[in-house]
Amino acid sequence: MSESGTSSSLLSARVLGLAQLGLIVIDAQHHIVMWNQWMASRSGRSSHRVLGQDLFDLYGELRGQRLEQAVLSAMQSNLPQQLSPALNPSPFPLYPAGSWGGERVEQQVSVTPFSEGKERYCLIEVSDISTIVGRERQLRSQAEQLRAQSYVDGLTGIANRRHFDVALDRELRRAARHEGQLSLLLMDIDSFKAYNDHFGHQQGDACLTRVAEAFAATLQRPGDLAARYGGEEFGAVLPDTNAEQAALVAESIRARIAALGIMHAPAAARPHVTLSIGVATFDKDRLAEPAAMLAAADSCLYAAKKAGRDCVIIYQHQQENAA
Ligand code: GH3
Ligand code: MG
Ligand code: MG
Repeated sequence: MSESGTSSSLLSARVLGLAQLGLIVIDAQHHIVMWNQWMASRSGRSSHRVLGQDLFDLYGELRGQRLEQAVLSAMQSNLPQQLSPALNPSPFPLYPAGSWGGERVEQQVSVTPFSEGKERYCLIEVSDISTIVGRERQLRSQAEQLRAQSYVDGLTGIANRRHFDVALDRELRRAARHEGQLSLLLMDIDSFKAYNDHFGHQQGDACLTRVAEAFAATLQRPGDLAARYGGEEFGAVLPDTNAEQAALVAESIRARIAALGIMHAPAAARPHVTLSIGVATFDKDRLAEPAAMLAAADSCLYAAKKAGRDCVIIYQHQQENAA
């Protein structure tokens, strides 16, 4: 019996030494009665130096903190307590084994009260969650990166500005190489500020989504790209499309949005939600760069606003000469 008792206590000691988490036992007066090897190697304090000491004298910084409160409340209520790692990422000054310094390891701490005979104790378990937390952080930042690299507009589900820029650049190069045709439409919802002011931002978002879906559905060819260019502005890249064809596409988009019959705000220029559209077409001598194409389409969009909105204006090179 005593032999098996000895071998089982040897076994317990060995297991405590091997455990991959910190194990601390304190008595009712908070004196440390157990401190395993894991704690020693991460705190730089061996068990013979800390045994018998008050845990909160040893680590004064724990006084008044969540850990001390958890110990007090566990002892009082006789219920285990868990510390939220989000609120208490590193309560103990513990460092990766063998490196006395640098960043504290991130810890998950739980406190379990128990009695042995007449004595009351508290077991404090500390696990190193730095790797898990680090991996979570890495995953979060990768997800953010992916979102940033995404080609889809989060609100409307059509292509985003990034996709639009890439497509315009690619199609312009292609048109230049093959002496092809390429047109660009820029469009902007009329009096949209009034819509938001009247119906609220949420309904504004819903309206944007309806307009985006209807606009994208108007484009027929597989190479066409419908994108949200910015707030309430949209863009279309139309490969193999000359100015006359682009004017027809633009007019059919304008008519389709007007025909949705979305009730507009009383302060708006029109009773229903409408679009103004500017159209520019690739010209290898005068409009061959994305910036020039965009500026040309934008100047037409501006002209469409000035002309009363809900209309299409096509870029003409005479404009350039006249200016
Ligand atoms: P105009 O006819 O001249 O285009 O007038 P406008 O009121 O549409 O133009 P303005 O540029 O003054 O206002 C655009 C408004 O679009 C401002 C902003 O409240 C709204 N807006 C931009 N992005 C979003 C969005 O993502 N959601 C919502 N709900 N509103 C947006
Ligand atoms: Mg605008
Ligand atoms: Mg607008």
